[in-house]
Amino acid sequence: MDLPTRLAQRFRSTRTWIALGVLAPFGMLALSGMMLLDLRSDAWDKAEQTSKNLLQVIESDIARNVEIIDLSLQAVVDNLKAPGVAQAAPELRQLVLFDRATTARDLGVLLVLDEGGDIVAEAAAWPPRKGNYADREYYQVHRDRAGLGLHVGRPVVSRLTGERMMNFSRRIDKPDGSFGGVVVGTIKLAYFNRLFERLGLGQGGAINLYRADGTRIMRHPFVDADIGANIADAPTFRRFVGAPSGAFTGTSVRDGVERYYAFTRVGDLPLVLNVALATDDIEAGWRAKAVVVGAVLLLLCGLTATLSLLFGRELRRRAAMQAELARLSVTDALTGLANRRRFDEVFETAWASARRTGKPLSLLMVDADHFKRLNDRYGHAVGDAVLRGLAGCLAASVHRPDDLVARVGGEEFVLLLPDTDEDGAARVAAKVHEAVASLSVAAAGIGPGAVTVSVGLASGAGRGGAEAGALYQAADAALYAAKDGGRNQTRCAPAADDGGRPAALRLVHA
Ligand code: GH3
Ligand code: MG
Ligand code: MG
Repeated sequence: MDLPTRLAQRFRSTRTWIALGVLAPFGMLALSGMMLLDLRSDAWDKAEQTSKNLLQVIESDIARNVEIIDLSLQAVVDNLKAPGVAQAAPELRQLVLFDRATTARDLGVLLVLDEGGDIVAEAAAWPPRKGNYADREYYQVHRDRAGLGLHVGRPVVSRLTGERMMNFSRRIDKPDGSFGGVVVGTIKLAYFNRLFERLGLGQGGAINLYRADGTRIMRHPFVDADIGANIADAPTFRRFVGAPSGAFTGTSVRDGVERYYAFTRVGDLPLVLNVALATDDIEAGWRAKAVVVGAVLLLLCGLTATLSLLFGRELRRRAAMQAELARLSVTDALTGLANRRRFDEVFETAWASARRTGKPLSLLMVDADHFKRLNDRYGHAVGDAVLRGLAGCLAASVHRPDDLVARVGGEEFVLLLPDTDEDGAARVAAKVHEAVASLSVAAAGIGPGAVTVSVGLASGAGRGGAEAGALYQAADAALYAAKDGGRNQTRCAPAADDGGRPAALRLVHA
């Protein structure tokens, strides 16, 4: 058989269609699963890109502002060294000192402190306000160490304005190199707040600015208690300082929320900035889609698979029904034995096989004696019961799987005995008589011995010109002989070479 024909046959088979009906949903599931995974990775790509962009924008804004402040600080330090500044009139000194100092909304104060921590000059006021800052961290740091350059201080609450500030400071050296004071500039934390607020980050998103020592300078969304907290020991922070920039997914020590963190150093300052997006927010859109797609898909797949299985069940039910019909069509309804049609079929094949192999084939034709009388006496129903009893006797008389017992007429039965010679068949006939002799129908008062049968036996292979019918007729003739001979006996048809004369019919059992 060529391939196209084989394929065509495959597709005509209902099994194939049922299998496809059950397998197709799995294909659909796999494909959709891949699609959903793809969508998820798109959502993550987008989140990564967004964080990176935000980080860049914020970082450059902060770096620029810090640079502006530092330039102002440096200008003050430089100007202090300019010849004559120390001797100049206070107003003039004020002008010279702060000539390059920038003023902007978010810049707080710009102060010059002397070596004792007292304010000696202030960019925004003349005369300067009074105050001593010897207790401030930045003052002490510069006093104790020269050459620090720009120092980024911890966030503080301004004593002058009461606002939260972040401070940047530089040391003022005396001509001999000893500590001469500090110049300090501040940025209001409100600046960061405004900067961060403009960026939509999702519900669980956050932006943090840390000092390199782990002190939180600013967080958005803003919670007062967060400012100044130190998270140097948190695993997330250790990763922030482990590289100049990067990204990772981790769990916040602050609120236990899992976030995707993108972080970077701000310029070359000891500041770490991070943008954190909650994993839930990143996947929220995707998840909603996945739930809908998944639910619809599962429903469709379930439906398809269920329909396929139901279809399969229906087909199997029909097949079983057909098989039962086929069985019934060859079964005798009253006795459950094979019927005439079945006998004809089996007889033909058995005959052909016997001719081919040369093995003997025997036929016993059994007819109940005076059955009409029995019917007349006991009624048709009892007659039927006796027929069922007879069927049982006949079935009990054969044992080989190939033997066939059939009801071929009203009270006529045939036993087809392949691979059985005349002697064997005569033994089966004897068993039949024996079994029938003990048959009784107690309910009708029919005792053992009341029912008898006559049997015609014919045996051979290829008898009478190789017609199956010849063997059948021989058995029939033998049966007549048995009836003629007085019933309740078996007559054996003569072998083919006997000439087939009825006179030669032998009595084999009586
Ligand atoms: P014998 O064969 O001994 O010559 O006599 P018989 O009375 O059996 O002869 P015959 O073959 O003429 O009668 C057959 C009777 O079997 C006719 C009918 O009353 C009865 N019979 C045939 N089929 C059925 C059946 O299905 N049920 C019942 N109860 N009786 C049946
Ligand atoms: Mg009859
Ligand atoms: Mg009869």
